[in-house]
Amino acid sequence: MFNTLSDRLTGVLQNLRGKGRLSEADIDATAREIRVALLEADVALPVVRTFIAKVKERAKGSEVSQALNPAQQVVKIVNEELVGILGGETRRLNLAKNPPSVIMLAGLQGAGKTTLAGKLAKWLRGQGHTPILVACDLQRPNAVTQLQVVGERAGVKVFAPEPGNGVGDPVDVARRGIEEARRSQHDVVVVDTAGRLGVDEEMMRQAADIRAAVQPDEVLFVVDAMIGQDAVNTATAFRDGVGFTGVVLTKLDGDARGGAALSVREVTGQPILFASNGEKLEDFDVFHPDRMASRILGMGDMLTLIEQAEQAFDADQAEAAAVKMGSGQLTLEDFLEQMLALRKMGPIANLLGMLPGAGQMKDQLANLDEKHLDRVQAIIRGMTPAERDDPKIINASRRLRIANGSGVRVSDVNDLVNRFFEARKMMSQMAGRFGL
Ligand code: GDP
Repeated sequence: MFNTLSDRLTGVLQNLRGKGRLSEADIDATAREIRVALLEADVALPVVRTFIAKVKERAKGSEVSQALNPAQQVVKIVNEELVGILGGETRRLNLAKNPPSVIMLAGLQGAGKTTLAGKLAKWLRGQGHTPILVACDLQRPNAVTQLQVVGERAGVKVFAPEPGNGVGDPVDVARRGIEEARRSQHDVVVVDTAGRLGVDEEMMRQAADIRAAVQPDEVLFVVDAMIGQDAVNTATAFRDGVGFTGVVLTKLDGDARGGAALSVREVTGQPILFASNGEKLEDFDVFHPDRMASRILGMGDMLTLIEQAEQAFDADQAEAAAVKMGSGQLTLEDFLEQMLALRKMGPIANLLGMLPGAGQMKDQLANLDEKHLDRVQAIIRGMTPAERDDPKIINASRRLRIANGSGVRVSDVNDLVNRFFEARKMMSQMAGRFGL
C-alpha cells in the first residue's frame, strides 16, 4: 500500500547516512524532501505541515543522544512523529462491562462495512466472544443477504428483518437485534448500517438515529483508504454528522497512494482501531501505529537497532572510556565493559544483520565467531583486577595461570594481550591526529 511513500522516505533518510554531523541546511533539505514525499502520497496538507515543523524543531533542537549518530537520530525522530500521527499507542476495542457490547459500523457505501462485519465477527470469536451481526442496511438491495453470507462464513448468527415486509425501519431492527443478543446471550453486537455513495444528509440522520437509539460502546467509521483526499472530507462529515469513536481503514492492499488515510486520525482526533487488507475474512488486523510507521519507513530492523543501542548504552561509561582511549590509558576492564555493553544488545551477527545492506554480508556474518568473543571474555575474567588495570604486569607465570583458569592455551592469552596493546597504541595515535 504505502510502497511509494516508503521508498521515498527510505531514500531521503538513507542520504543522511555516513554524515558525521548534520548542518541546519542538511536538516532543512531533508525536511523539504520528506514534505514532498508526504504530499505526493496524499497526506493532508495541515497534517504534513505540523509533522514537518515538529521534525525540524526536534532535529535542530538540543535533543542529542550520544548512543546514536545524526542520521539515526533523524530516523528516530521521523519514526516517532509518524507513530504520533497514526495515534501513538495501539487503541484496543472498548467493550461494555455489562454485555452485550454494541459496535456500530458507519461509512460510505462500498467502504467495506459489510465485509468488515464478517471480519470483526471472526476476530471477536477468536478472542473468545460470541458475536451476533445485525443487518440495519436496509437501503442497498442485497445488503442483508450479503451480511448473511459473511455471517455464515464467519460462523456467527445474523439478525435481520423478516423478508417481504417492504423497507423496514433500521432503528427498530437495531433495537430488536440487541434484544435478541440479550435473549440468546451474545456478548457483542455488531450493527451494520446503510451507506450512500457520497455524503448525504438522510444517511447521516439515519446513522445518528441508530446511534442515539442503541448507545453503542463503539461507533467505527469505516473508510476506504483508496479514495484519496476524499477520505479526510468524508471523515470530517461523519464526525460532525454522526460522531464516531474509532476508525477502520480498509483496502490497504490497494496500490493507491493512501496517505489520506494516514491523515484521518490527526484530522478527526479519533484513533485507528483496525486495518483491512483484502477481501478474505482473515485479511484484517488490529492497527498498531508503531508497526505501521516502521513499515512505512521500511526500516523495521534499523529502528530495533536504535532502540537496543539506546537501552544498552551508558553515556557516562562510554565517555570515560573514550577519554581513556585518547590518552592511552584504556584498561582491559574498560574493554570488557564495552564488550559486555555491546553484547547485551544481542548476538553480534544479529546486530550486524540489522544494518541496512547487510544482506550481502551474510557469509561473513555466518562466520563471525561468537565463541571467539566468549573466549576473550573468559580470559579477561580470569585476570586479577590489578592485571586488568595494568596489563603490562602480566608476565609468563601470570599468563600460564590465566590460561589454566579460563580454559584456553597460553598462546590465546598472549594473542589477546598483544592485540590489546596494539589497539591501545593505535587509538591514542588516532586521538592525537584528530585532536581529541
Ligand atoms: P459496504 O457497502 O460498506 O458494506 O462495503 P462492502 O463490504 O460491500 O465492500 C465493498 C467491496 O469492497 C466488496 O467488493 C468487498 O469485497 C471489497 N472489500 C472490502 N474490504 C476490502 C479490503 O480490505 N480489500 C479489498 N481489496 N477489497 C475489500
